[in-house]
Amino acid sequence: MDQLKITLNSNKKPMPPADQLGFGRYFTDHMLLMDYSEEKGWHDLRIVPYGPLSLDPSATVFHYGQEVFEGMKAYRTPEGNVVLFRPEMNLRRMNASCVRMGMPGLEAGPVLEAICKLIELDEAWVPEGEGNSLYIRPFMIATEAGLGVRAAREYQFIVILTPVGAYYSEGIHPVRIYVEDQYVRAVRGGTGEAKTSGNYASGLKAQEDAKQFGFSQVLWLDGVEKKYIEEVGSMNVFFKVNGKVVTPELSGSILAGITRDSVLHLLREWGIPVEERRIGIDELFEAGRRGELEEAFGTGTAAVISPIGWMKWEDREIEISGGKTGALSEKLYNELTGIQRGVFRDPYGWRHAVK
Ligand SMILES: *Cc1c(COP(=O)(O)O)cnc(C)c1O
Repeated sequence: MDQLKITLNSNKKPMPPADQLGFGRYFTDHMLLMDYSEEKGWHDLRIVPYGPLSLDPSATVFHYGQEVFEGMKAYRTPEGNVVLFRPEMNLRRMNASCVRMGMPGLEAGPVLEAICKLIELDEAWVPEGEGNSLYIRPFMIATEAGLGVRAAREYQFIVILTPVGAYYSEGIHPVRIYVEDQYVRAVRGGTGEAKTSGNYASGLKAQEDAKQFGFSQVLWLDGVEKKYIEEVGSMNVFFKVNGKVVTPELSGSILAGITRDSVLHLLREWGIPVEERRIGIDELFEAGRRGELEEAFGTGTAAVISPIGWMKWEDREIEISGGKTGALSEKLYNELTGIQRGVFRDPYGWRHAVK
């Protein structure tokens, strides 16, 4: 990989007010690009002004969908520094996604350094205020022109940055979940454990249907028997049953979330019994009926912790934690966001300074 070249944007935009940011609506002044070809490998690492890409209409990403992406956040600490949360895990996961999708991996060290340089350049876009952050979206697409069906020989790696507002503008609160019993998101041996656009494309219809019925997300069941819990929306999912926390094991069809890993770590530190295993949806509703389903929550970079207050499966509906945020969900949320924002001590070395 060669030296990073920087072309500055001479036409900088102002950042919108922090309370109007939303999610992924505004983009910063610069982006990071790098090209891949079989002959040259990864080359031409560069920061350029943010703007449209120019691609041949036959570029294979449009037809056969070779794409992988990542999502992570940069936070402004009370001292005014900018920090990332476990970014080396994102790059490792991106490389794992690349392997599954037949795409070339990246050299994590220099790429992370270049991402930090990009953030440093657009540092004015890292919003202040609790809950606000700069969302970082690295992604890779197949750019080779031609409709032949095979793994492409040319790719582009791109990183864009978007300032995002607080996920919970009115405080952390529970959502209603629809247990999807018609469509499935992924199967073992498929691409469920890769962070790739196709998994999202195949899930959007179910999500729209659920929204129409007044639910905010779907809970995905396994693709074979539609019996075992996988994920909720694009988050990993945890349940507290009778004092013990359970989450689906990484079986090959779910994504290995970094928030999931961090939650498991904290629970073990706190001495709370936790199991990664197959969880039947019937088992869960049975626990709910007995009054033993104490809490449920999704985990992911965007929401960090998303408590689940109600769940509907076929003709059955249960309320969890009285439709309120459970004590453990709240504690995890406070601890994780405190570490991420640089407000709490970081005993696990999870923060990564941008400069
Ligand atoms: C990104 C993602 C997650 C959450 O991963 P984090 O690293 O915690 O943000 C969970 N499930 C799916 C399908 C995802 O794409």
